[in-house]
Amino acid sequence: MADKSNDKQRALRTSRGRSGRAKLPLIGAQVSTAGGFAPVPERAVAIGAEVVQIFSSNPRTWRTRSPGLEEIAFLTSGLRRHSLPLYLHTIYLINLASPDEELRKRSTSALAHALATGALTEAAGVVTHVGSHKGTGFDSAATRIVQAIRSAFEEADERLADLGHAEGLPPLLLENSAGAGHTVGARLEELAALLDASPRGRRVGLCLDTAHLFAAGHPVHETAGLEKLVSGLRDLGLLDRVLLIHLNDSASPFASNRDLHENPGDGLIGYTGLSRVIRYPAFARVPFVLEVPGADGRGPDAAAITVAKSMREEAARPPEGPAHAAKRRAEQE
Ligand SMILES: [Zn+2]
Repeated sequence: MADKSNDKQRALRTSRGRSGRAKLPLIGAQVSTAGGFAPVPERAVAIGAEVVQIFSSNPRTWRTRSPGLEEIAFLTSGLRRHSLPLYLHTIYLINLASPDEELRKRSTSALAHALATGALTEAAGVVTHVGSHKGTGFDSAATRIVQAIRSAFEEADERLADLGHAEGLPPLLLENSAGAGHTVGARLEELAALLDASPRGRRVGLCLDTAHLFAAGHPVHETAGLEKLVSGLRDLGLLDRVLLIHLNDSASPFASNRDLHENPGDGLIGYTGLSRVIRYPAFARVPFVLEVPGADGRGPDAAAITVAKSMREEAARPPEGPAHAAKRRAEQE
């Protein structure tokens, strides 16, 4: 059932695009890889996702997992059947900016593993947090980050060659940060400097996270703030390099530098604020992915996607969102 209505919605949007009316972006979610990659497409369809993001391996451990060819085939054929673009997210431990050489080496290898997995799974992009410079300043960190990116691409090429695969690597998407603890990429200028210095011939773009933008002091919840962000991206040559947006509401206050995701419409960016981002013409070609707690804290669910799709349609907010959030808060207390 979910499958059919999903197809119908997609057909509706495609025809709308052809008829010349405003094209609207895809909306999807982070999906659990419990049990491996094979169950991912059906899980995505069950919650109404039109685009999927998964972790390349367990995000809280350095121990990488290399999925077998059969598992990968299950994933890619399922995604193709449902026309679902795939994005991978690297593990949380990665710090490309670290002054600690050992940690940077591990981070580079983990990134290379994710890029190679991205090639094998035909991912449209691999998202990574850049990391923290630990007080050493952006300038010296930038050199380390760019070198780590270069090495990761080379290591990923070697990894693929060893496996006998000739696929090109997917674009690497650097994610903006909320600005906590010397994390790099809270300011657009830092992201621009990193993209400028990235190795030639490699595809490096951006993934913008709305909750991180808000927490970093970009007022995306206001019309003028969103305009300013977009013109800032345009001036720095970054607008065309935004290839994915993480659609998260924020539970932590504006400019708090705290990274705390909330269900869409239940946080401080709010329903209208996020709706404006989704409907902003410059982002119409960019897929939106939810990384939110859901009703039970176990990740994005059908209710969260329904709310996000209503934002896209500029429809009145459906009643499920706040009710679920209230229930979850009550359970946490
Ligand atoms: Zn994110």
